[in-house]
Amino acid sequence: MTEKRIIKTIKVDPDKCIGCRACELACSAFHAKPRYSSANPARSRIRVVFDELNDIYFPIRSVAYTPAECAGRHAYVLQGKEYPECAFCGNICPSRDYFYEPDSKLPLKCDMCESTPELEEPVCVAVCRVDALTYEVREEEVAAGEEGPDELEIGLEALADEYGLDKVLDAVARIAGKE
Ligand code: SF4
Ligand code: SF4
Repeated sequence: MTEKRIIKTIKVDPDKCIGCRACELACSAFHAKPRYSSANPARSRIRVVFDELNDIYFPIRSVAYTPAECAGRHAYVLQGKEYPECAFCGNICPSRDYFYEPDSKLPLKCDMCESTPELEEPVCVAVCRVDALTYEVREEEVAAGEEGPDELEIGLEALADEYGLDKVLDAVARIAGKE
């Protein structure tokens, strides 16, 4: 069984990226509560791998939470530029401090700026003045019923990894008792 899904893509052209980090600020501001009340790259779901000396600027978006580091690392050399290990990986993993909300330690997964009313394009794309990020939407046939874990599930898993499941369950029970 297949069904039609809307596939949203942000294309990245690292050769155009100038490392201005406007995308980081825009993402964090859009997701601040209340919206646009603060701008802090540490809370962004897009981060720019930055190496000015070697002319390397590579924006990566957070994709999926993974509680453990992978056993092997990828390193790429493209057009003479040696990118740092994991530079192209969008996983939210313990090998770096990207994509964790600094206070709660919850993973910050890119949601393509879902909102109502829907945006014409995600805010990171909208603020990128050099078209290092471009947005595409298309329809595709995909296998039916293949939903990934939702944000709540991912967040609870991360909290359980950080503090232990018993503490998380105790906290939930306490909160529920206050209501
Ligand atoms: S806004 Fe565009 S040019 Fe600036 S860092 Fe982000 S991707 Fe690079
Ligand atoms: S699409 Fe939206 S949520 Fe995802 S990285 Fe860009 S600004 Fe952040």
